[in-house]
Amino acid sequence: MSDNVRKIYGIDLGTTYTSIAYMDEYGKPVVVHNAENMAVTPSVVFFDGDNIVVGEVAKESSRLYPHDVVSFIKRSMGEPDYVFEHNGRTFRPEEISSFVIRKVVQDAEHSSGEKITDVVITCPAYFGINEREATRRAGEIAGYNVRQIINEPTAAAIAYGTIEVESDEERVVVVYDLGGGTFDITMIEIQANSIEVICTGGDHNLGGKDWDDRIVAYLVQEFQNATKSSEDILDDADTCQDLQLSAEKAKKVLSQRDKTPVLITHGGERVKVVIERRKFEEITQDLLERTVALTHEMLEEAKKKGYWNFDEIILVGGATRMPQVTSRIQREFNMKPRVFDPDEAVAKGAAIYGMKIALNEGLKQRVTDKRSKEMSAQETLEFEIDDVLEEVEQLVNDDDAMSPSQMRLSRVRVKNVTSKSFGIIAVNSRDEEIVFNLILKNTDVPKKITKTFGTAVANQEAVTIQIMENDSSEVMTAISEAAEIGTAVLNLPENLPADTPIDITFKLNEEGRLEITAIEPTASKRTVNVTIDTRSVIQGEEFEQAKARSRNLVVS
Ligand code: AMP
Repeated sequence: MSDNVRKIYGIDLGTTYTSIAYMDEYGKPVVVHNAENMAVTPSVVFFDGDNIVVGEVAKESSRLYPHDVVSFIKRSMGEPDYVFEHNGRTFRPEEISSFVIRKVVQDAEHSSGEKITDVVITCPAYFGINEREATRRAGEIAGYNVRQIINEPTAAAIAYGTIEVESDEERVVVVYDLGGGTFDITMIEIQANSIEVICTGGDHNLGGKDWDDRIVAYLVQEFQNATKSSEDILDDADTCQDLQLSAEKAKKVLSQRDKTPVLITHGGERVKVVIERRKFEEITQDLLERTVALTHEMLEEAKKKGYWNFDEIILVGGATRMPQVTSRIQREFNMKPRVFDPDEAVAKGAAIYGMKIALNEGLKQRVTDKRSKEMSAQETLEFEIDDVLEEVEQLVNDDDAMSPSQMRLSRVRVKNVTSKSFGIIAVNSRDEEIVFNLILKNTDVPKKITKTFGTAVANQEAVTIQIMENDSSEVMTAISEAAEIGTAVLNLPENLPADTPIDITFKLNEEGRLEITAIEPTASKRTVNVTIDTRSVIQGEEFEQAKARSRNLVVS
């Protein structure tokens, strides 16, 4: 079977670094090195005239050409107002991210000698609908079939569950994922035939970069003290970029050593500052404490679902290499956390998941072929893999070419929860407008729910449904706490009384896509359907143009 399985690559599109992995012929996930022979590629884009340069060269170029280099673009994914302007052209975050994807895929094609068409891309569990859709678009602009967007901690747990956990073991693990720009904390239950997300939390504006920024602020202060000036040297773009790069390097050295020197050059002055690990830990302590507080918040949520304990904490994400992370977590939870492949676990998990999609597709095709032979012309072949598990099981058992790990993988069910709550604006009993959540965060997905609301006045012409995304765990929450992600208008017939029922259905799929249906069920049975159109994400003509530009573009 393995020869017929389509290869789907897994991409960890990180804030600071991106990596790509595939499943080798022995069923092992392997991270592909880039043209510079590195396992991770800086997610940095340098607009060098008409050329697009991605990776280490781009990162180094930020010292000399700070205005032509874009870093940390992931933090702006899904933002409606972000554009980067260069030579009279504007680029949305999706397009800039597509360059990063192109670079890692192209390099992987060169090293493997095969054409890559299909990918799974990861994103933080914390991403909402817009950010997820923007991530998908980035892959599509780059010209690839994005088979699925999966959560980074889920990918890490898939890698961990597949590589480290015996097939008959059951474990509840907490994945503490501190990357370059995001922090995700997730509880996952690994069982023989399932990997199930129980609860998720985090902060998409907390990551290694914040530790860098603290070092930058410290260096600025030390420079001011040494030169007896109050000048804010960060106003100088060159100095600012220089300090950012030096700070990240210093942070990494401090993971190994007790102190490290940094040379600051600005306005003809040179100042040497020695940063001690103790000082570094002191100026970043509150950031670490925030991750601990967010971990507790998530654990409290998990208790509501009946999960009071966990067996293990695994650390993923490059920033968990800072020794204070391990020691703080150990002190807090009285358990030694396991550092699990921090740079590669997510890409590997995505590749494993890609393999699973491909295996299931192959099996589904075989069930289809078998059934179509047995069926009459009128019968339909529509079914989902979960509907035909017995047949699939039989195929898997009979398949000599399927390795035990492939068999196990094809059987594993991956279940997720939503990291956001979704609702509509409604009026409460005190006549105030509030958000009424139909789906609460940490609900298992897919989820479909219908709720009946009443029209406000008699003879109402239409109902405008404002669809809101938020982080609240309560059914009702303030409008100021939520962001509008779409609207639907249901036109009504004349002469309906006040409080006419309107049934609103929310359907959220595994990938976080939301479909809304509103129906006036009694008089007219009028219906309106919307799939959240993620207005802040590149689409339509602009999307097609970006795709066309991408086809003619050389990314190096
Ligand atoms: P990721 O998004 O998982 O690739 O994580 C990237 C983050 O990890 C960046 O902020 C890096 O600076 C940080 N990082 C990578 N290696 C180390 C290290 N040895 N010590 C401290 N931070 C690191």
